[in-house]
Amino acid sequence: MSISHLARSIAESATLKLNEQAKMLADQGQPVIHLGGGEPKNKVPITAILSSAAKLTAGDVKYVPTDGTPSLKKAIIRYTEENYGWLVAPENVIVSSGAKQSLFNVLVSILDPQDEVIVLAPYWVSYPEMVKMVYGRPVIVRPEDGTFQPRLEEVERAVSSYTKAIIVNSPNNPSGAVYSEDFIAGLVELCERRDIYLIMDDIYHKLVFDGIRPPSAYRYTDKTIETTKIIVINGVSKLYGMTGFRIGWAIASRALVEVMKNVQAQTTSCPANLSMAAAEGALTGVQSTVESLRLGIQNNRDVMMNELRTFPGVNVTKPCGTFYCLPDFRAFNGNSEELAAFLLSKALVVTVPGKEFGADGHLRLSYCGAVKDITEGIKRIRWALDPEAPNEIYIGDRRMVRDWL
Ligand code: PLP
Repeated sequence: MSISHLARSIAESATLKLNEQAKMLADQGQPVIHLGGGEPKNKVPITAILSSAAKLTAGDVKYVPTDGTPSLKKAIIRYTEENYGWLVAPENVIVSSGAKQSLFNVLVSILDPQDEVIVLAPYWVSYPEMVKMVYGRPVIVRPEDGTFQPRLEEVERAVSSYTKAIIVNSPNNPSGAVYSEDFIAGLVELCERRDIYLIMDDIYHKLVFDGIRPPSAYRYTDKTIETTKIIVINGVSKLYGMTGFRIGWAIASRALVEVMKNVQAQTTSCPANLSMAAAEGALTGVQSTVESLRLGIQNNRDVMMNELRTFPGVNVTKPCGTFYCLPDFRAFNGNSEELAAFLLSKALVVTVPGKEFGADGHLRLSYCGAVKDITEGIKRIRWALDPEAPNEIYIGDRRMVRDWL
């Protein structure tokens, strides 16, 4: 079979492979616990459902404007004003089929082959792969060992004449870190000085804990939306737990949005009308879902931290946002893929290998599920890794026998 070099260079997702194995085990009736999930378990806001259902009932399911319906764009403009203090025009907004597509459209629109994009480790798995998909080169900047805070000097050192953009995700998937005001202010200054795009993936910006507020990049620029190279990506997936509707958006200068619109017109035409109606319903409806989701997840974070802090050999940094943490398991195995596979087969717990995020030796653990799954999941991991623990236990009626790593 003839497959392109490019397609061959795109990494297989170890997460999907593990998820498939987990599903197979669950289908066989095995009591699998998921600490790998990337979506909140809440019900979608009722305003989203009603709004989408009204469109469906009316049979209004046709092509719509490429960059999104005017009414959804209006809701996004209001959201941007309320949350960022920036008043933007409809021509500064483009709605896509998920923030993932928004990011891809941005990269297609700004990169020429061999252009470099700085990605801060630990990073969301898709950034480097997306950059490669448009023949760009991801340049990874790593934090000091033991922290998840990138250093501005390192970012500056990574900038070359080929650098076109820096992608920032704070609150960060997978670490849960929120970057400091100084760092974001420094990045804005650096990007403006070197004429680089600053892509802010703000998908988790409302999922923050303990009163922390992630700094908005807009705060540190004197430029206008038309002259700035800051691009803000957002969406309803994590904000309302509406992952299945696939709605995200980008806020950028008119000139860039115009190009992204052409890219989207020639690829997916437009986001789905029913999904846009749902997103509009969520954005214009009662916002209590966002706060109750946040509070529930903050509580889960505390449960997860309590479990991990007393776990000998594991080092964990308390996350300030998202629903993930990235504990260091190097004391047990430096190869996180091997470790995750071991934990799935021996303890029936799904985790995500840190290697996927540029942080081998770590596991990404998600706490967006039920509290009992967090406690039971960590209990099983402890058992599987503890040399002092009994060699066998029963999980449900399944006898588990521990193997050594
Ligand atoms: N950005 C980050 C950092 C994410 O973690 C995710 C989803 O996991 C996305 C973007 C994609 O979001 P969406 O569901 O809107 O495509």
